[in-house]
This record gives sequence, C-alpha cells and structure tokens, in this order.
Amino acid sequence: MSDQHDIIIIGAGLIGLCTADALLERGAKVTVIEARPGPCEGTSFSNSGMIHPSQALSWDSDKLTASALSREALAAGYVTARLAERSQSRLAQKISSFGFPPRTAGCFQLHADFDSARAAQARYQKLGIQTDVRIDPDLTFGLAACFFPNDTSGNARKFGCALADDLARRGVAFKYEAKAQDIRRAQDGFAVSTAKGILHSEHLVVAAGSASPACLARLGVRLNLSSVAGAAMDFTLPEDGTALPACPIMDAQSRSALTVFDSHVRISGGWHVTDPKTLLRRWRDIAPDFVNGLGAPISEWTATRPVSPVGRPYISGTSIPKLWINTGHGHMGWTLCAGSGELLARLILKEAEDNRFTFAG
Ligand SMILES: Cc1cc2nc3c(=O)[nH]c(=O)nc-3n(C[C@H](O)[C@H](O)[C@H](O)COP(=O)(O)OP(=O)(O)OC[C@H]3O[C@@H](n4cnc5c(N)ncnc54)[C@H](O)[C@@H]3O)c2cc1C
Repeated sequence: MSDQHDIIIIGAGLIGLCTADALLERGAKVTVIEARPGPCEGTSFSNSGMIHPSQALSWDSDKLTASALSREALAAGYVTARLAERSQSRLAQKISSFGFPPRTAGCFQLHADFDSARAAQARYQKLGIQTDVRIDPDLTFGLAACFFPNDTSGNARKFGCALADDLARRGVAFKYEAKAQDIRRAQDGFAVSTAKGILHSEHLVVAAGSASPACLARLGVRLNLSSVAGAAMDFTLPEDGTALPACPIMDAQSRSALTVFDSHVRISGGWHVTDPKTLLRRWRDIAPDFVNGLGAPISEWTATRPVSPVGRPYISGTSIPKLWINTGHGHMGWTLCAGSGELLARLILKEAEDNRFTFAG
C-alpha cells in the first residue's frame, strides 16, 4: 500500500498536534502518524498543566545564581519566554474554543528561604518576567515563594484529545499504531514505512518528542537532545471540604508541582526522577496536612522530556530540504505548543523567516 501526502508529521503529542493545526489553518494537506493507539499518550499524557512562560530558562541553568548565568542560557531563555507568551495567548483562544478555558490565577514557586526567592526574582527580571515574592500561611504553605501573575494552567491531555478530534473533523488524516520505522528520502520528498503501509509526502515534520533523534538518525541527521525523566501521581479530590490551592504551586528544589485539576489533584514533575514516590515524599515535607489528606494515589506515571542543550526548542528546517523538526521543548512543551506549531507552519509555508530556534544539523 502506498499513499501520497503533502506533509507528514511524526508524533501526535502536543507539539505534533499544534503543528498540524497551524498547517491546516493555512490550507495544507496534513497526515499525522503516531506509534501509540491515540493522541497525547507519550510525554504529553500527564504533565503538571502549567502554562508558564515564567519558566522559559533552562532548568539546568536555573541552579546558577543571577550573576553566573551564561549569556547563551540567558539569550535562549529570553527568546523562549517571548515565544511562550505568544503561545500562551494562542493556546488560550484554542482551549476556550473547546469550552474549557485555562485557569488564570497565576502560579507560585516555592523557595528555601526569602533570600533564595529574591535571587530567583532577579533572574526572572532578566528574562522580562513579572514576579513578586510572597509568604502566606495558606497559599505558599508558609514558605517564601515567587508569584507569577501571568502564568496560567489547564489540562494538556484533555486539550490534546479535543484538538485531535477537531483536526480529524477538519480533514487531517491520523494513522495510529503506525510507528515510523524506516524513513527514506524519495523522489520529491520522503517515504515513511509503518505497520499501516508506506506513506509518501513532500514535507516531513519530526515532532516525535524524545524519539526524535532516532527518527532523524534514519536520514543521517544528528540531533543533540537529552531525555530527562519526570513523574506524576494523581489523587481524587478531597471530599471533606479541604481548601484547594487556586493555582499550581511549584517547588524550586525538586522541580515538581502540585496542581488541582477539575477531577483530580496531581503531584508531578521532577528532573531526572523516575519514581513518583520521590515527589510524594518531598511534598509531604512541604505540606504534610494537605498531602496526607489526599490518601493513596489513584495512578502513577513516568515519561521523559525532550531537552535541548540550552533549553531553547528546535523549530526549524534541517540540512535536508523539506525535512523539519519541532522538538526539544523540555519542561515547556504545554506552554510552547501552540506558538511552536504556528512558527513551524509559517516557516514551512514561507510566511516567515525566523532563525531564533534554528537547528544546525
Ligand atoms: C512530569 C512532567 C510534567 C510536565 N509539566 C509541564 C508543565 O506544567 N508545563 C509545560 O509547559 N510542560 C510540561 N511538561 C513538558 C511537556 O509535557 C512536554 O514538553 C511535551 O509533552 C512534549 O510534547 P511532544 O509532542 O514533543 O512529545 P510527546 O508528547 O512525547 O509526543 C511525541 C509523540 O511521538 C510519538 N512517536 C515517537 N516515535 C515515533 C515514531 N517512530 N513513529 C510514530 N510516532 C512516534 C510518541 O508515541 C508520542 O506520542 C512536563 C513534562 C513532564 C514529563
């Protein structure tokens, strides 16, 4: 079986779906191929839900003091923050059109003490991010925290599934359980072999998250991307009238968050964390009464984030004409998905020249 498509996107995570959306809006004929049985079953399955331009700086460089931040990390954080702000407003429109607008109450980030929070505030100011430092017995569990009034939050997987349904209705072809196995250059484009047959396209977009380097290697392109594990645990909402945080609360030390969704509470995140219980222990230290009141978790999950060396995603062409990549969003993929999809669509369709997120390979 052989089939011709204008643009094939590998990966039905948040990034691949938003790329498909922006391309479709511009009149392209798009096919999405996905190894798993449905959309958002990879890293996009169970994230912390924060739409947080505030966190645009690489989490590896976040360990540094404001004065020690490298110019490169700062420059990468700055452009990522601006893309994140644009993405946030596009995402808000999209989510609202599906009937579940993002929560706009901001996000907190807990720090060890007031001085650490102030040092973090100085770093955020360098990125043009608005924040103030607060301590509140309830809102921050009595700890010093940066508050980001412009961050928002929402359920990423719920959005991704709604978007996939919407795209299918509007004409995007989805091939699930269709892992791209062999990928070759063919006359005027690419040939992608899957269990569902060989698909041909003029353009190929690799948005396969942590598996992107393996896909690109088949075409001889080397992508410098690391996979950083994170974890999540869900709990039912307390029924005893316990007051719930109105916005996500991050913990700077463990790079994790406590987020309240419509139907559950989630403790998630972590940097190089493969066991969700590690996060639970940390949150029991931070907020023992609240966390012990949640009871036993109803689900546990782990995944790896696709992380680029300085934290700036790759949204770009490659050395092979008509081969594109959209990956490396690290801890920012939910925040950046709508803006990244739009940016890549504009590059592919030659509406824009933008080299801020260029990949050199
Ligand atoms: C614990 C945790 C918490 C997070 N919290 C936040 C947050 O609060 N805010 C935020 O902005 N970001 C957050 N993130 C980051 C965000 O979730 C990711 O950046 C984002 O999900 C990455 O999306 P993606 O589409 O690139 O990858 P994925 O969702 O992994 O999608 C890639 C898809 O490609 C498919 N695929 C791979 N190889 C192939 C192949 N050969 N053929 C076909 N299909 C293939 C995979 O099955 C997968 O579905 C968090 C991440 C984690 C792990």
